[in-house]
Amino acid sequence: MSVNPDQRSRASASADAPIIEIAGLRKWFGTFQVLQDIALTVARGERIVICGPSGSGKSTLIRCVNSLERYQEGRLVVDGYDLGAGQKNIDTVRAEVGMVFQQFNLFPHLTVMENCMLAPMKVRGTRKKEAQELAMRFLTRVRIADQALKYPAQLSGGQQQRVAIARALCMTPKIMLFDEPTSALDPEMVKEVLDTMVGLAEDGMTMLCVTHEMGFARKVADRVIFMDAGQIVEMGKPEPFFANPQNPRTQAFLGQLL
Ligand code: ADP
Ligand code: MG
Repeated sequence: MSVNPDQRSRASASADAPIIEIAGLRKWFGTFQVLQDIALTVARGERIVICGPSGSGKSTLIRCVNSLERYQEGRLVVDGYDLGAGQKNIDTVRAEVGMVFQQFNLFPHLTVMENCMLAPMKVRGTRKKEAQELAMRFLTRVRIADQALKYPAQLSGGQQQRVAIARALCMTPKIMLFDEPTSALDPEMVKEVLDTMVGLAEDGMTMLCVTHEMGFARKVADRVIFMDAGQIVEMGKPEPFFANPQNPRTQAFLGQLL
């Protein structure tokens, strides 16, 4: 009997197994330690908001989850695939984990529709017609299907970010990572993007969101994490986290946001 190599390298992927398991994760940029002994287990369907001061390692942590960054020590398992166990697992996980960046990162020379079709066709080998249908389905879901033939520069920032979300969804990810998705937007466009993210959460998507939008965190987060200096300093359900933060650094940080 032949063994599927994907299955062979997959440790635990049953429905009730955590979708992300991080233990003892440490990372350095040169001599600078950016992540210090990170431990985090995320259940399927869980929504986690990560906040903390600039430079605390938030982006680096979530970028490790889809292997945009490598780490030197510890264990990181996503949907049963150990990211320390080789390139094949990394490729598999990248296709399963969608990411939305602060700066949208749409391809400027492709239309909205083509932006959404690219990864399914290139990575999954989806046929053009099917990729078009997929693109329209998710562009409709983020309420921007009427802009499908435009180029990114012809859209507002909020519209571009919704396209970026649709583009990620076209890969039917199991996890969505958001890295400050509303920080580059004019204030009047923040809501349309947050509303889209709330919709995703309501549909049961597993989400890790780096954001300082505390209204969003209160509304959708199962847990809020506060990071400082490469460590998870505090973690809890939104209500106690905001009402009664335990750590002085969390208190000081939340105090500044008010
Ligand atoms: P955050 O997202 O919380 O603002 P980052 O994860 O982007 O923090 O960065 C954490 C620290 O790591 C910062 O001090 C930053 O300067 C440093 N850093 C991030 N990326 C790199 C890199 N590619 N090379 C060297 N240092 C980096
Ligand atoms: Mg960042």
